[in-house]
Amino acid sequence: MRLRVGLTGGIGSGKTTVGARFAENGALLIDTDELAREAVAPGSDAFHRILERWPAARAAAESLDRSALARIVFGDAAQLAELNAIVHPFVRRRAMELEAASAEHDIAVHDVPLLFETGYDRLCDATVVVIADPAVRIARTIARSALSADEVHQRMTRQIEPERAAGLATFTVHNDGTLDELRQNADAVWGQLQRLARQG
Ligand code: ATP
Repeated sequence: MRLRVGLTGGIGSGKTTVGARFAENGALLIDTDELAREAVAPGSDAFHRILERWPAARAAAESLDRSALARIVFGDAAQLAELNAIVHPFVRRRAMELEAASAEHDIAVHDVPLLFETGYDRLCDATVVVIADPAVRIARTIARSALSADEVHQRMTRQIEPERAAGLATFTVHNDGTLDELRQNADAVWGQLQRLARQG
């Protein structure tokens, strides 16, 4: 592995689509959301610590009610920080293990919804943010999830302002056109990432 890339974008921005395109182009794609779910799997250390701290997040059959947990901690910065302190170290350790196990890839792309907010960007050699019009993002998200426009809006307010993210990121991918155009924009950034990896 020569280059570790952090990929982010607000809810409904097209981040997953860009990550998939990078993977088609040859990147190792690491989905940190998936690793966060793995972190809290029944029986894990984090699972026990979370249920001890937030008993109301216990669902039937010894599992974790992630929506209930989200409702509790998302309204409270201190509790969210406590939860992150339990989950993030596991996610980062696993992400690095996955990288080490796929050393034949030149570029590893870590899909991280809260890349800058959590400081994960500091582990990366380069960062990519996907930007799209907020109204389009809300429409795309409610079309494919059970979330209401209000809930999507609420989640958007917990994420860094897209303009700020674009200012911090190494590269920006715009997604205000068709899916084909999105893939073309992603490919252009992929070319730049390859150049960086070669300079490595
Ligand atoms: P989330 O943060 O909610 O997981 P995301 O940023 O990962 O979202 P995607 O999953 O890539 O975004 O895209 C959200 C939805 O919008 C998907 O169904 C995707 O196919 C669609 N989509 C993304 N970009 C476009 C586009 N330019 N034109 C049409 N549909 C699009």
